[in-house]
Amino acid sequence: MSLTTIAVEQLSKTFGRTTVLQDVDFEIDAGDMVALIGPSGSGKSTLLRLMVGLTRANREQRSRVTIMDRAVQQRGKLTRCSRAERCRVGYIFQQYNLVGRLSVLTNVLIGHLGSMPRGRALLGRFNRQERLRALEALSRVGLESLAGQRANTLSGGQMQRVAIARALVQDADIILADEPIASLDPRSAREVMKILQRINEEDGRTVLVTLHQVEYAREFCRRAIALKQGRLYYDDSIQHLTDARLQALYDDEGLCEL
Ligand code: ADP
Ligand code: MG
Repeated sequence: MSLTTIAVEQLSKTFGRTTVLQDVDFEIDAGDMVALIGPSGSGKSTLLRLMVGLTRANREQRSRVTIMDRAVQQRGKLTRCSRAERCRVGYIFQQYNLVGRLSVLTNVLIGHLGSMPRGRALLGRFNRQERLRALEALSRVGLESLAGQRANTLSGGQMQRVAIARALVQDADIILADEPIASLDPRSAREVMKILQRINEEDGRTVLVTLHQVEYAREFCRRAIALKQGRLYYDDSIQHLTDARLQALYDDEGLCEL
């Protein structure tokens, strides 16, 4: 397997007449921790959705996304991925995407299914070994004591940690997280970022995280990819991202989000 785990080539996306992404190219090495930044509306979420195959790229373009040597989409066509292949990418949302009525443990166990379940016939479906793995994942995010609690009783930060535990159970090699800390208070946000950092450093999982607050990118990530109006604006070590460059990134928004 090559060192490159994610390759995005000439990726373009148009909704109606609006071009949201244009000719975006980058590669991410296995084991890196990368921040995806840029003003609101610059195309970050669309990019992640294209990377997991939730949206198709433009048909007429030479757009291509490859994850772990397997094309997710090319020339506007999604490729069929097996469940095992889908499981290699864990996708974490700003809004957690937990099933509120189910227990924390069951929400983590859902990771074994490789996708969100349909219907409610879930309990009792998992064996002892799967339950043990889910508990172990919960302990890695510091929540094993809440395993039996309903998910909708948790705080935002705890819910996000459950979502991470679910990706761990899924055994995702790559974690794509879309604004995972945007709804959290600073303390919970730091906790979530530390957990992402730990699973990157200790397990060698590749992490690509969309962040609104650049200070978290500076603190926790090695590299930054920035989008501005749908185009690649920056792709380098986060240390090389000067304040002037950053200012210019957010300039048109009229508000510097620092
Ligand atoms: P970001 O995550 O950086 O804030 P998004 O990827 O959510 O940006 O959105 C980029 C642009 O694409 C926005 O102008 C948004 O309105 C537009 N957009 C996103 N999804 C759709 C859609 N399904 N249909 C039409 N426009 C969309
Ligand atoms: Mg977004």
